[in-house]
Amino acid sequence: MIIDDQSYDLIIVGTGAGGGTLAAKLAPTGKKILILERGDFMPLEEQNRSNVDIFKRERYHAPEQWYDSAGEPFSPQTNYAIGGNTKIYGAALLRFRERDFEAVNHQAGISPEWCLKYSDFEPYYTEAEVLYNVHGQANCEPTEPPRSAAYPFPPVAQVPQIAEIYGAIAQQGLHPSPLPLGLTRQEDDPTNDSEVSGIVPALTHANVTLKTGAKVVCLHTNPSGRVVKGVEAEIGGQAYLFLADIVVLACGAVNSAALLLRSVSDRHPHGLANSSDLVGRHLMKSLMTVVVQLSTKANSGAFHKTVCVNDFYWGDADFPYPMGHIHNSGGLLADVIFAEAPPLFSVMAKFMPGFGLKQLATRSIGWWAQTEDLPDPNNRVRFEGDKLFVDYTPNNSEAHDRLIYRWTDVLKAIEKDLDGFQQGVMHPRGEVPIQVMANQCGTCRFGDDPATSVLDPNCRAHDLDNLYVVDSSFFPSNASVSPALTVIANALRVGDHLRERLQ
Ligand SMILES: Cc1cc2nc3c(=O)[nH]c(=O)nc-3n(C[C@H](O)[C@H](O)[C@H](O)COP(=O)(O)OP(=O)(O)OC[C@H]3O[C@@H](n4cnc5c(N)ncnc54)[C@H](O)[C@@H]3O)c2cc1C
Repeated sequence: MIIDDQSYDLIIVGTGAGGGTLAAKLAPTGKKILILERGDFMPLEEQNRSNVDIFKRERYHAPEQWYDSAGEPFSPQTNYAIGGNTKIYGAALLRFRERDFEAVNHQAGISPEWCLKYSDFEPYYTEAEVLYNVHGQANCEPTEPPRSAAYPFPPVAQVPQIAEIYGAIAQQGLHPSPLPLGLTRQEDDPTNDSEVSGIVPALTHANVTLKTGAKVVCLHTNPSGRVVKGVEAEIGGQAYLFLADIVVLACGAVNSAALLLRSVSDRHPHGLANSSDLVGRHLMKSLMTVVVQLSTKANSGAFHKTVCVNDFYWGDADFPYPMGHIHNSGGLLADVIFAEAPPLFSVMAKFMPGFGLKQLATRSIGWWAQTEDLPDPNNRVRFEGDKLFVDYTPNNSEAHDRLIYRWTDVLKAIEKDLDGFQQGVMHPRGEVPIQVMANQCGTCRFGDDPATSVLDPNCRAHDLDNLYVVDSSFFPSNASVSPALTVIANALRVGDHLRERLQ
């Protein structure tokens, strides 16, 4: 093994929403920071933001296999590059709702309380929205949490076809609102990500070093087992050891847990930071279904997702439990469906002869229905030998089904009043399968009690003095809105703590 001849004040592993953001926050401290990233800079390509490439051609699935609980291998949809999954994300940057931080009764069980509340996160949500140039509009609908500042930029305009639908949804007595989006305002690559807002600004500081193609494989502790001393990485087929006073993992919820579970030693026989036996457990990844609205009018398919509906978020009179969040998908949704749910295509072909893939791609509007899944200790990341298993059984499915039925009823109702829709046409849908790991979270939950959590409220491992985790692993519960803004806000919050510690 090659021992790097320098030692660092701090090492960050991973450059996604958590790691990239933390790098930007800590770079101005002047401390010696090393960033290790297994991927490389990703070339700017049209495919980065195309559903066809992301979902159908599996262009951004990791070049490795994980295994489901039945032992079936799959290629996970997770992106190894500078910027991590934010290089291919939809940049819908929403705050969790105030009640998402409380214990909430769902139809299938309890979503647990967080050790910190919305008010603790609020200043960091504001900071995150500024850093990622979020475009949005406040005070549109009742589930929105209170804010201390307006959105940095006004919302993106709805394209004409979506604007008509937006109005028709409001006519139903619902509260559609502009989907908050993180945008660069540059034409060539409009989506903001943690390379643009995190790594690029961090690298303008001479005290920050980035190593790409550096896959971290193990963490080594001192003899007492209380302090991480060395970070072992593979670079170009060679093993390297890097030394630091503080180590921060930001590899994503599955990979951070996997790295801890792999870092076995006499002092930590079940993996690092794992005295609670909770590392890898409580994996959540949201229940997500895409519902297709078929139109007789063509659309370009080139528009972004821009509208969301949260009227069913906390339930309704007929189902007094949370159901979830709806937003439109942007273009070319039909291809997603066929990629992720091929049997659906044959059903559609049977019921809609003559309605082929081409028409679907240009005449459909897609809607994502997203429901919180609940933390279950049996949904987990684990190893058998070198094989990484992801055991995941969806829960809270009735709430998700109700959300889909409610939304399908809304679509049927608005189609009566709009041009371009036929009455009585079905709304095909497809659920995402296991390999879609977009919203993975929860595998190193934070909390006050070392017996029931892996990380303390500052996201430091209870078992170690100098190990932190700042990716989506820390979530004790998921929410029905997407996770990235909360990961970013948390990295900024932990960054404040680390700045003090580094002084
Ligand atoms: C297609 C898609 C669409 C999405 N759309 C949205 C959206 O619109 N809104 C939203 O809120 N969220 C969205 N998400 C989810 C969002 O991207 C994630 O929640 C967010 O990126 C998680 O941040 P993270 O820091 O936990 O991990 P990641 O962003 O996944 O970053 C992890 C980083 O660690 C690196 N890494 C992993 N293992 C190692 C290792 N062993 N050594 C070194 N480096 C390592 C990876 O290469 C990567 O750079 C989407 C995700 C996908 C895939």
